[in-house]
Amino acid sequence: MLDRLQPQSPDALLALIKLYAADDRADKIDLGVGVYRTNEGDTPVFAAIKSAEAKLVAEQDSKSYLGPEGDTGFVRALMPYIFGSDATMGGRIEGMQTPGGTGAVRLAVAVAKQAGVTAIHMGTPSWPNHAQILSDVVIDFKPFDHANADGTANIDTVLQVIRDAQDGDAVLLHGCCHNPTGIDYSNEQWDQIADAFASSAALPILDIAYQGLGHGLEEDAYGIRKILGAVPEALVCYSCDKNFGMYRDRVGALYVMAKNGDGLAPILSNLNFLARASWSMPPDHGAAAVRVILRDSDMTKAWLDELETMRERMRRVRDRLAAAGDVGTLDLRPLGQQNGLFSVLPLSKDQIQQLRDDHAIYMAGSGRINIAGLHKGNIDKFIGALEAVTS
Ligand code: PMP
Repeated sequence: MLDRLQPQSPDALLALIKLYAADDRADKIDLGVGVYRTNEGDTPVFAAIKSAEAKLVAEQDSKSYLGPEGDTGFVRALMPYIFGSDATMGGRIEGMQTPGGTGAVRLAVAVAKQAGVTAIHMGTPSWPNHAQILSDVVIDFKPFDHANADGTANIDTVLQVIRDAQDGDAVLLHGCCHNPTGIDYSNEQWDQIADAFASSAALPILDIAYQGLGHGLEEDAYGIRKILGAVPEALVCYSCDKNFGMYRDRVGALYVMAKNGDGLAPILSNLNFLARASWSMPPDHGAAAVRVILRDSDMTKAWLDELETMRERMRRVRDRLAAAGDVGTLDLRPLGQQNGLFSVLPLSKDQIQQLRDDHAIYMAGSGRINIAGLHKGNIDKFIGALEAVTS
């Protein structure tokens, strides 16, 4: 039977990693894979995580099963950072740990389907796995254009989509640092979006995978908090894999806000059921390390400092790119207004290939670049290469 299976197309970014590794040019630049890099091109373990791991090794006294909800201390400790001082919205928010933000999105889509959602509206381009998850869970995917050609958010369309939504519709939005465009809504636009949701039938599904990497932890939560303040119910998918540098340890959480406190139990029981059937329980280590950090003021300070260093470095790279202004046929100014790890350059397939062949610069076929792959030592070469392939 298994010989009936047709091969799936390989993950393009993973293929790019292999090509990059095989390239022996000393000045090669990797703008493909979505991880933070220092000025030296490294993706180190956070010092705060190292301290927390040391404490865990010394003090953890059991590895016995927890449950599908995972480490509830971790889930609760994150909540003030995401939701603010009234972190449960008067007892209406509860969460569970998931295997990364991917697990949270998967669970959110599955529980939305179980609750009667039949279509999910989402701006494109988006993180490719969003569409793959929707297809795998078998739910109708209704795309709309996330961005305008001038590198700003297409606010009119998202407002229209939310206003036109019917019972059975959900709208999935990125909380901050949009992947892949880096184009976020302004606070004024979030206010409009929250107002639109307030009188819409749509269920908001909010995916926040880069909190703290845009303008700051509080600033990056503006949109989510605004929407949660305006709607009766919502799902929030969270990843710690970027803002704690935990990528392979798979640290995430899914939060649900119910109409009232009593409404939480049936939703959580469905989430537990779906999690049990999918992965039984999430991996413990990374979430436990995050919990240790958030319960210790010195470690929390060390984490916040590291996050700030990352954010400021990416902002400097963006400022440098924006300062280059017109480069060949490209206008790099909008990159200075965009946020997070990614932006998309409007390059043709040929230009992307030429950057790889002639300049050893590797980026996704969509033109997405990882801003953190650039630093003082390679940014001038990158701008020069863009000029060369677009002039
Ligand atoms: N949502 C978005 C928008 C993402 O870009 C990503 C991945 N980087 C995720 C969710 C999943 O994150 P994780 O690596 O924690 O599964």
